[in-house]
Amino acid sequence: MKDRYDVIIAGTGTAGLYAALNLDPMLSVLLISKNDLTLSNSALAQGGVAAVINKESDTYKSHIADTLIAGGYKNDLSALEVLVTEGPSDVLRLEELGVNFDMDKEGNLQMTLEGGHSKRRIVHHKDSTGAAIVDGLLLKVKERPNIDIYDHTIMYSLEKDNGGDGFYAGLLRGGEYYRPFAGYVILATGGIGRVYQYTTNSAIATGDGITLAHMLGAPIKNLSYIQFHPTAFAGEKGRERFLISEAVRGEGAYLLNAAGERFVQNYDPRGELAPRDVVSKIILKEAARQGSEEFYLDITYKDSEFLKQRFPMIYERCLEEGVDITKDRIPIYPCQHYLMGGIDVDTKGRTSISGLYAAGECSHTGVHGKNRLASNSLLEALVFSRRAAVDITLNISTNGRPKPSDIPPAPQRTQGQPLPEGIRTKIRAIMQESYFVNPDIEKASKGLREIEKILNDLLSKSYAVNEHFVEARSLATVASIILREVVSNAAS
Ligand SMILES: Cc1cc2nc3c(=O)[nH]c(=O)nc-3n(C[C@H](O)[C@H](O)[C@H](O)COP(=O)(O)OP(=O)(O)OC[C@H]3O[C@@H](n4cnc5c(N)ncnc54)[C@H](O)[C@@H]3O)c2cc1C
Repeated sequence: MKDRYDVIIAGTGTAGLYAALNLDPMLSVLLISKNDLTLSNSALAQGGVAAVINKESDTYKSHIADTLIAGGYKNDLSALEVLVTEGPSDVLRLEELGVNFDMDKEGNLQMTLEGGHSKRRIVHHKDSTGAAIVDGLLLKVKERPNIDIYDHTIMYSLEKDNGGDGFYAGLLRGGEYYRPFAGYVILATGGIGRVYQYTTNSAIATGDGITLAHMLGAPIKNLSYIQFHPTAFAGEKGRERFLISEAVRGEGAYLLNAAGERFVQNYDPRGELAPRDVVSKIILKEAARQGSEEFYLDITYKDSEFLKQRFPMIYERCLEEGVDITKDRIPIYPCQHYLMGGIDVDTKGRTSISGLYAAGECSHTGVHGKNRLASNSLLEALVFSRRAAVDITLNISTNGRPKPSDIPPAPQRTQGQPLPEGIRTKIRAIMQESYFVNPDIEKASKGLREIEKILNDLLSKSYAVNEHFVEARSLATVASIILREVVSNAAS
C-alpha cells in the first residue's frame, strides 16, 4: 500500500465502486473493503433499480410523486429531482459497463413493479440484481491501473491533516496498521443493520463510516429513519434474515395471516402493494389482533415455471429451508432492512468537512424522506457517488492535489486489552427491544442510558484496536445516536 493517494474510498459496494469508476483515471485511488470485495448489502440486492427509462409509459413526475408518498413528504425535493432525472442515464451506463439486465422479447429492458410504485419501472437481473451490478463494476474497476484495491482492510480512524487540507486514514490489514494520506475521502461504508438482532443486512453493515464521520464532527441526520421490511423469511435462526423481495408481491403474491386470510386490505386500500413501512406496521397490528406472529406470502397460484425463471435465487433459497414457493406458502415476518438517514451530504456528496464525501446507504441525501421507496437505494448510490467523484475531479483540476503538511499526524494507540465478550450482543438486544417497527419510548430511554455507558467504556478504556473493537464502537455510537433521536422526537 502506498502512503499517499489522491482519493481513498472506503467501501466496495455500488457506491464505492461506481465512485471509483467516475474519478478521473489520472488520480491515484485507494479502494478498500473490510471483508471480501463482494460482501455487501449491494451484493444482496434482489429486486432491482427504479428508473424512468421508458418516457412514453412513465414520467419523472410520477416517480417523484411515488417517492414523496412513500417518504411521508419528508424528502428533500431538490435532491429527489436530481435522483429521478439523472438516474436513468446511470442505469443505462451500467448496461454499457456490462451489467446484464433482463430484457423483454423486443430487446427492451424488462420492467417490474414493486410496492409503492404506480408504474412498472424496476430494471432487474432476475432476483439478484445487486450481485450482477457489483460483479460488473468490480470487473471494470480491476481494469483501472490508477486504482489500488485491498480487501480485508478496515478503516478504523480518520483524521484531518492538522496543518493542511487532506486526511490521514487509519487502516488495519492482516494485523498491520497503515496511515496513508489522501486529499479526499469518500465514505461508502453502507448501512447499520447489524445494530439489530435480526436484519436482512450483510455482516459488514455496522455503521463504521457514520461513526468515523461523527467522530470527525460531521453532522449525522435522521438516523432514526429506519426501514423494517415486511417480508423477511421467518424460518431462519441466524441473525441475517433472507429477504423475500418486494417484487414477489409486485408479481401478485398475497399476504396471509395465521388463518390463511388476506388482511392488509382491512387496514389500507392499497393492499399488499402499500409502501413497506405501512405493511410492516399493519403486520404488527394484525399480529396483536390474532395473538400470533405467524404470517405468510402466497404466490402458489402463479405458473411454477414463471416463478422459477423470475425468482431463481428466492426459489432455491426457500427450497433449502424446506419451502417450495411454487407449492407452499412462505413464512415471513418484518425485520430491519435499510437506513434512510446517515452522514448529511449535499447533492454533490459533500459533508460539512471540506474534502470528506459520503455516498450510498451511509449517507443522508434526503431523497428517501421517512421511508425509502423500493429500489430507490441502488439508484441513490449510483447518482450521488458519481456526483461526488465528478466534484472531486473538478476540485483537483481547479485547485491542484492537496499535499500533506509538514505537521505529522499525532501517534495513535493501537495495542491494549482485548474487548470483553458480549458487548455487541447486548447492544443488539437493547435496539431490538427499544425500536422495532414502532419505537417504545420507555425502553428507548432506558436503553439509551445503557448504550451511553457502553460507549463511554469503549472510548475511555484502552482496548486493542482490531475489527471487533471498531465494530463494537460503531454499533454503540450508531445505537446512541438513534435512541437519542427517538427519545428527543418523542419529547418534542
Ligand atoms: C437483502 C437486501 C436486498 C436489497 N434489495 C434492494 C433492491 O432490490 N433495490 C435497491 O435499490 N436496494 C436494495 N437494497 C438496498 C441496497 O442494496 C443498499 O442500500 C445499497 O446496495 C448500499 O450500497 P452501498 O454501496 O452504500 O453499501 P454496501 O453495498 O453495503 O457496501 C458497503 C461497503 O463498505 C465496506 N466497509 C464498511 N465498513 C468499512 C470500514 N470500516 N472499512 C473499510 N470498508 C468498510 C464494506 O466492506 C462494503 O464493501 C437491498 C438491501 C438488502 C440488504
